[in-house]
Amino acid sequence: MAELEIKNVNKNYTLGKTKFKALENINLSFEKGELVSIMGESGSGKSTLMNLIGGLDSDYEGNISIDGKDLKSFKDKQLDDYRKKKIGFVFQSFNLIPHLSILDNVTIALTLSNVKESEKNKRAIEILTKLGLKEHIKKKPTQLSGGQKQRVAIARALINNPDIILADEPTGALDSETTNQILNLLKEIADDEGKLVIMVTHSEKVASISSRVVEISDGKIVRDEKIKNYQKKKTSRQLIDTINSNNEPSSSKKEKHLSFISALKLSFHNMWASKVKNILMAIGVSISLIALIIMLSFGSGLTGYIDDLAKDYSDPTIATISKSGKDRDGNKLENNGLLPNMFEQEEITKIVNELNNHLEINNNNYRVIENGEESNLSYGFIMVTMGAGTINFTTQDGKNETSMIMTTYTTPPYYDESKLLTENSKICADDEIMLSSAIVKLMNLEKPEDAIGKKVNLKISLNYNNSIIPIDKEVTISGLVDVSVFSSMLIMYVDYNYLDNCVKQAQEEKGQTVTGIRPSHLYIKTDSKETTDLINNYISKNRKDLTGSVEEELASMFSEMMSTFSIALAVIGGISLFVAMIMILVVLYMSVSERTREIGVLKSIGARKKDIKLIFSTESLLVGIISAVVGITLSLIICGVLTIMFNSLIGFAPIAIQWYYILLALGLSVVISVLAGLYPASKAAKLDPVESLRHE
Ligand code: ADP
Ligand code: MG
Repeated sequence: MAELEIKNVNKNYTLGKTKFKALENINLSFEKGELVSIMGESGSGKSTLMNLIGGLDSDYEGNISIDGKDLKSFKDKQLDDYRKKKIGFVFQSFNLIPHLSILDNVTIALTLSNVKESEKNKRAIEILTKLGLKEHIKKKPTQLSGGQKQRVAIARALINNPDIILADEPTGALDSETTNQILNLLKEIADDEGKLVIMVTHSEKVASISSRVVEISDGKIVRDEKIKNYQKKKTSRQLIDTINSNNEPSSSKKEKHLSFISALKLSFHNMWASKVKNILMAIGVSISLIALIIMLSFGSGLTGYIDDLAKDYSDPTIATISKSGKDRDGNKLENNGLLPNMFEQEEITKIVNELNNHLEINNNNYRVIENGEESNLSYGFIMVTMGAGTINFTTQDGKNETSMIMTTYTTPPYYDESKLLTENSKICADDEIMLSSAIVKLMNLEKPEDAIGKKVNLKISLNYNNSIIPIDKEVTISGLVDVSVFSSMLIMYVDYNYLDNCVKQAQEEKGQTVTGIRPSHLYIKTDSKETTDLINNYISKNRKDLTGSVEEELASMFSEMMSTFSIALAVIGGISLFVAMIMILVVLYMSVSERTREIGVLKSIGARKKDIKLIFSTESLLVGIISAVVGITLSLIICGVLTIMFNSLIGFAPIAIQWYYILLALGLSVVISVLAGLYPASKAAKLDPVESLRHE
């Protein structure tokens, strides 16, 4: 039985609607140990024939059988195996993989069979040594001469100890001296190893050393001539006899394929070969991760900060009730934007009654008392939104007359001495105000203490009951107060009753009905934290129109800002992740087309579709991991810098990175990269090997 039998083979290429006959009725039979020269003019069909024999192209009529087995009956898997173990390809343009070392270029065929590292290196070094390349194994292909490259390619073709070597114009790119070396090598492989060597050549001289010449013209065999007898020397396989004595890959029972680790190594080598491109891509992808981590850190920083703030400000035995800006069903109310929502007397009485009922039902003995000596209900007024409070003062050096707009609060009942900043500070009474420490700078004071006792002009313009009530008083600064995280803001406190009296006086002077102000806040001094909680719970469950605690009030104050902020950032984050994904897709897609030839080579040495897919998928996985590392590192640095900046600017940093944000960033980065890699990887896997090898 012939080693290789070609019977009535016809091959057509279809270009559009026209069919082109590339091979016509080919009948050939080859034995082991033959060195066959295939000759013929360019375009006569030599490469086409080689590709059919090599199992790279299965689209033909007729039969090609190896050891009596018809190639057409092979399944994809068997065909991959056939290319891997039975055939060794040598190409005119060497087709070495540029980013791999010489050693790795030779071992790649074994890598595809997951042969142990030490084992495959041993085999490759043996062959490379015999081919005189021992000193070059660490070099890259570009560092070798043409003849050396072709010897590496021959070593690669031999590594799996195939029975057939297919060499398509192996000396076409070499000078005459190197040509001789390579030819002798191929001759030796046929003579000494007893392999069937089929070689395409244009040179009669080259053909003259072979045992048989086959000439093709226009797809037809025009000559098939035995030049000399070849010896079947199966016994003395000198070049690679050691390989046979070792465990021969084709005899291993369990099929082994490219492992994930090897794929990772291959991807890493390739990415390293174009590091600049990959680092730039990683930075590009990492920007979206940085946006994400910083956004989340701000979110948690602000939330944590609000909690701290609320704890700072609230006394557990005081329930603070204000209007939420919604109706009882939770729908937003229209706000005039100038004044806080104030409580009318009937509303207060109703709330007090409701709360007392609730307390009674829950067997709590505490009762809210509205009036009289035992009253535990006090009022507050906050002009946050209008900022209508203004103070005028002269700076320390007497040069500047300055006017400051302040957020104005009435002193809440829990404002005790512990919140005063300097020794000489005291809680404000009539004709007095307290200020946040930011004023010290504005007044050009040397020491904060110097602020106390200073006289300033207080102007408040209340747009109240549809008329403007102007308040203009000379007041004394009685204290500087700790407004914790708001220390850089201008905040002014006045006594509620004093403000009420001022309003009444102003109304009287203007001839208006004297009403005084209505409270925007109700402070209920309770007997215990339990009672406070009972009140807070009642309000938050049953009165959507009210907020029941400082925490709730602050949270709702921030929540709108926060939610707009986070939606905006989420949109930006989402878009940038998407852009990152497209970018990875484009880069990997380009990498596939850049590496088309490499893919063809890998297929010619037996890489399965799955292996190619794995190589490109691990590459996208690596992109994801590297981007995540870059993104997370940069995020940590940026958050650190922001923390320092915030601390020095406003005295606190609303940033809190959580460990799970880092995990999330890593996860997202890997997921988008792998998703983006799916398409390029499957495109690479589907590439036609013959066309890939022709790719320039
Ligand atoms: P050789 O190797 O002898 O120079 P080839 O086998 O490469 O020739 O090509 C034989 C003929 O088939 C040429 O005319 C070539 O143009 C044509 N051919 C080769 N590959 C294709 C293809 N993929 N599509 C269409 N025509 C092709
Ligand atoms: Mg050709």
